[in-house]
Amino acid sequence: MDEPERNRLNTSTEESRPQSGVDSKVLQPATLVARAGLGPSEQDGMLNTAVYRASTIVYPTVQSYKDRHDGFYDDVVYGLYGTKTTYALARAVQALEGANSTLIVSSGTAANAISMSTFVESGDHLLVADCVYGTTRKFADNVLTRFGVEVSYFDPGVGADIKDEVRPNTRAIFIEAPGSQLFEMIDVPAIVEVARKAGVITLMDNTWASPLHFRPLDVGIDVSIQAGTKYLSGHSDVMLGTISASKREHYELLKDMAGRMGNCAGPDECYLVHRGLRTLDVRMDRHVRNAAILVDWLLAQPEVSKVLYPALEVDPGYALWKRDFKGASGLFGVRMRGMSRAAEDAFFNHLNLFKMGSSWGGYESLIVPAWPLPQRSRRSLDKNESLLRVHAGLEDPADLIDDLNAAFVRMRRAV
Ligand SMILES: *Cc1c(COP(=O)(O)O)cnc(C)c1O
Repeated sequence: MDEPERNRLNTSTEESRPQSGVDSKVLQPATLVARAGLGPSEQDGMLNTAVYRASTIVYPTVQSYKDRHDGFYDDVVYGLYGTKTTYALARAVQALEGANSTLIVSSGTAANAISMSTFVESGDHLLVADCVYGTTRKFADNVLTRFGVEVSYFDPGVGADIKDEVRPNTRAIFIEAPGSQLFEMIDVPAIVEVARKAGVITLMDNTWASPLHFRPLDVGIDVSIQAGTKYLSGHSDVMLGTISASKREHYELLKDMAGRMGNCAGPDECYLVHRGLRTLDVRMDRHVRNAAILVDWLLAQPEVSKVLYPALEVDPGYALWKRDFKGASGLFGVRMRGMSRAAEDAFFNHLNLFKMGSSWGGYESLIVPAWPLPQRSRRSLDKNESLLRVHAGLEDPADLIDDLNAAFVRMRRAV
């Protein structure tokens, strides 16, 4: 499919599916996030899709009741699979990802678990990048292996040599780039090429870049996953996941697995994420701008040995990022001289604007100590170093620098 086709809003082939509400001409991503969804004409002129809550759906004829499951996750057939609110968001994300179809689920964790479960069965081998998010790894190691799936991890820097990791029973490759915690880039097209030749399905957790700054399906990935909890939502108050498939037959398998798992994204969550999507483009600009300012300042501090951020020219992932991605994000890692317990307390315990908390992608700046070691099998961190994870929020960067500067001053006094 060529590029203009992928950007069409009305990509659905089924007449029964809700349409996206704007003309199906070629639109830029910023316009898509601002406008894609259900049209005002479909709901009495209201711009935003209402929050439709439902469990029971009633049917006018016995035949329509008997046929109801033909349209699950696409039509309103039972509350579990979604309502118009869910499908409006699904159509918007589908347009943004350039997908054939998008499934909305209850969290990013659920999106990853459902995606992996869909494509492997007992006796199959699943190849996973060593840098994936912690719970993705736990699902593969603690759940899939109990159902007879072989799981192995590969170095994210492997490139085309991934062919040496592919076994006769390899069914799927799961990647995330840049990686959680250490932000390593992966040569996505190289992985895709090997996978295609071997008939292996490729899945990618693309939460860091958001579909605005990287579209995995455009480079041949089969399934693109977002923790909608992060940037799509953008306001730190929603759990949601999205699974976008380039092929209809993969989507059919994915929605079957989601349905069997009983997974359901609530209508309020779908509404809030759709609302968040409207400002995704302007928020990403600000996150990236603030991150660049914070990175520059941090690099000038003597305690900082490295900033882990592929958008930085000296980063080992820069060339791949520059070649494949349209932009960066607000999340990066900082390697520091090892912090004593007293230095850590002084640094973290009196922050003003920066908050310590998991998740990221919201309006607020975050800083947390990170420990990649227990989650890696292929790489390690120098034991005399500390690792921080920073998320640049939407605040004025001068205030953020003041806060960080005060933390560094406290830390210096404590050692
Ligand atoms: C947060 C995150 C997840 C999990 O998403 P939840 O919605 O918190 O379950 C998965 N992958 C990545 C890369 C994440 O950052």
